[in-house]
Amino acid sequence: MVAGESGLGKSTLVHSLFLTDLYKDRKLLSAEERISQTVEILKHTVDIEEKGVKLKLTIVDTPGFGDAVNNTECWKPITDYVDQQFEQYFRDESGLNRKNIQDNRVHCCLYFISPFGHGLRPVDVGFMKALHEKVNIVPLIAKADCLVPSEIRKLKERIREEIDKFGIHVYQFPECDSDEDEDFKQQDRELKESAPFAVIGSNTVVEAKGQRVRGRLYPWGIVEVENQAHCDFVKLRNMLIRTHMHDLKDVTCDVHYENYRAHCIQQMTSKLTQDSRMESPIPILPLPTPDAETEKLIRMK
Ligand code: GDP
Repeated sequence: MVAGESGLGKSTLVHSLFLTDLYKDRKLLSAEERISQTVEILKHTVDIEEKGVKLKLTIVDTPGFGDAVNNTECWKPITDYVDQQFEQYFRDESGLNRKNIQDNRVHCCLYFISPFGHGLRPVDVGFMKALHEKVNIVPLIAKADCLVPSEIRKLKERIREEIDKFGIHVYQFPECDSDEDEDFKQQDRELKESAPFAVIGSNTVVEAKGQRVRGRLYPWGIVEVENQAHCDFVKLRNMLIRTHMHDLKDVTCDVHYENYRAHCIQQMTSKLTQDSRMESPIPILPLPTPDAETEKLIRMK
């Protein structure tokens, strides 16, 4: 999932990461239309191939987030969406056919932080606190080419402090095994020290030092998306689709989904003891096609 204020470069980064155009014909809203903008949830599926392994990836975008004049609880449609995916999974897992469950749970949320402020804004804190127990949040500093390296270091430091201060639990990279080789340990240390990743996106390929690279061409030079001296894009991509994909899924399953499941079962049992004639014991959000057989099984369980 990608989330953050519009204009921070979310679709451009997704394009650079997975070479897929989220919005070939996106219609941008006028300022007037955005005054009371509601957050939309848009799903796109892309097929990517990584070292011969084919992956089907679903990207969920959240246009409109933080756009309105009043952004109180503007993360609600997003928390509801995450809960709905958990609920669907819970129903499928409790149903008769558990072999081929389609897992639509959100395994990672890339949260874009503006490079122009002095750290987190209230809406950033609100969003992350509303979602941190439900999904792996990976905070990103957007449009990192707007800042010089010392400013990036300062902003990263500040964001790390604020994440701590507000008790936000962002995704924690797992400890590296002690028997890994030195190179791997060094890479792992660098990865952890770089968080929150400062990223740059671009939809265009430009020529730099005789090579065609994905980058942004300015009158004073070229910013290369995949140059590690320019930004943390490569670290982010490697972490997402190579080194940490399984861990992200494991944490979703073992921590976030387990929390949801435990909470759900607790509510079900207390509701059932209160009112045994209740229609559906699953508490939270109504799904479009409740399956009678599954409902019955869940009640019996
Ligand atoms: P979204 O609304 O968050 O999806 O943002 P877009 O991807 O549509 O980008 C908004 C504008 O910012 C476009 O003009 C992009 O070309 C530009 N942009 C995207 N990524 C970057 C970046 O990393 N650095 C800079 N300077 N501009 C960017």
